Amino acid sequence: MVYQNTLAFARQMDEADPLQEFKSYFYIPQQEGKDCIYFTGNSLGLQPRITAQYVQQELDDWAKLGVEGHFQAKNPWMPYHEIFPQQLSKIVGCKEEEVVVMNQLTVNLHLLMVSFYRPTQHRYKIICEAKAFPSDQYAFETQARYHACMPDRHGFDPADAVIEVAPREGEHALRTEDIIAMINKHGDTVAVVLFGGINYYTGQFFDLEAISKAAHAVGAYAGFDLAHAAGNVELHLHDWDIDFACWCSYKYLNSGPGGVAGVYIHEKHIANKELPRFAGWWGYKKDTRFKMEKGFDPIPTAEGWQLSNAPILSMAAHKAALDIFEEAGMEKLHTKRKQLAGYLHYILAEINKRHAEKVIEVITPADENERGCQVSMLMLKRGKEIFDELMKKGVIADWREPNVIRVAPVPLYNTFEDVWRFGALVDQLVS
Ligand SMILES: *Cc1c(COP(=O)(O)O)cnc(C)c1O
Repeated sequence: MVYQNTLAFARQMDEADPLQEFKSYFYIPQQEGKDCIYFTGNSLGLQPRITAQYVQQELDDWAKLGVEGHFQAKNPWMPYHEIFPQQLSKIVGCKEEEVVVMNQLTVNLHLLMVSFYRPTQHRYKIICEAKAFPSDQYAFETQARYHACMPDRHGFDPADAVIEVAPREGEHALRTEDIIAMINKHGDTVAVVLFGGINYYTGQFFDLEAISKAAHAVGAYAGFDLAHAAGNVELHLHDWDIDFACWCSYKYLNSGPGGVAGVYIHEKHIANKELPRFAGWWGYKKDTRFKMEKGFDPIPTAEGWQLSNAPILSMAAHKAALDIFEEAGMEKLHTKRKQLAGYLHYILAEINKRHAEKVIEVITPADENERGCQVSMLMLKRGKEIFDELMKKGVIADWREPNVIRVAPVPLYNTFEDVWRFGALVDQLVS
């Protein structure tokens, strides 16, 4: 694709965009009566206009039917979570029985670690990326401490348990070869390799398949936190032989603040009753669940990891968003995503060219296979000042200390014109 840094070119791209009408499916935040340039779909996706209707349906059924809504509602609440796997499996690339919608992200990360992080005195290490999202860091640290204090595990030192792979001096992205070398170096002491699918800070999309393969080669499990990847990049969790993964629904999946989250568990594990887990009644075999008998007998799919009955209002919002993904189609979304991010990379490079010294260092990989929507801009001077000015001028972006502006043009509701206008503002502000 040959890009041009002109408004006319951007508008031409928008006119040719098969997804152009999807912007009107969303509420766009306003500033002084005009649409903002909303570039924080990586943090909180925008609200679809149909969401209110989906939630209202459940409120109405609750008002009309009370408890009978579990069976009589238009979308009966008892099996409500069963409406998700068909659509979600296409978004994350897996079989329907491998995916379930439940709880929230960090909760699910802990629940999955209960099953897949079972350290012994010898094999107890967690390999992760340096600068993993803080919630994930706290989960890893406290899981290690929790196990280390168990007498039968002879107290390995939890301070040695979490191994971070960092970029090389002077680089921002991790090299796959370095990740693999670290896994090999720790070999049979590695219990689990647990990475973000996309690092929240740099926007780097890791090679999930290569990491998974390397983990398996040393006898470890491979799991991923896909908070920044689900609904963003193309995923093939099953084919990549990934053991487990989890994600939230409120970032690229537009399902509302704190929305219900998702879990994937590979087919080879879902019927394994020997895997330890923290159980609840919603994971119990459906035909005998209401006999309320002792002895946990799990559903032999990812559903067997459910604990509680479904949070219907949050799930209704999730369903509204997934119906939009279904209508748009993942292929078209991926094509437009690559073009939008490519256009932004191009425009930022153009801005740098006009200055004797580089003003912005893009720390997100340039290769479109190693990134999603997000572009992380390391501002080489007056970063915070420029960020504050952008916000005043109707750009909603995200600031990360010490000097990074994160922006994510998303294919459902951002336009090439958004990217061009953003570039023009940045150009003005750095000059
Ligand atoms: C957004 C995000 C979270 C947030 O966790 P919640 O449990 O939803 O609050 C955790 N991990 C990663 C990698 C994230 O990007």
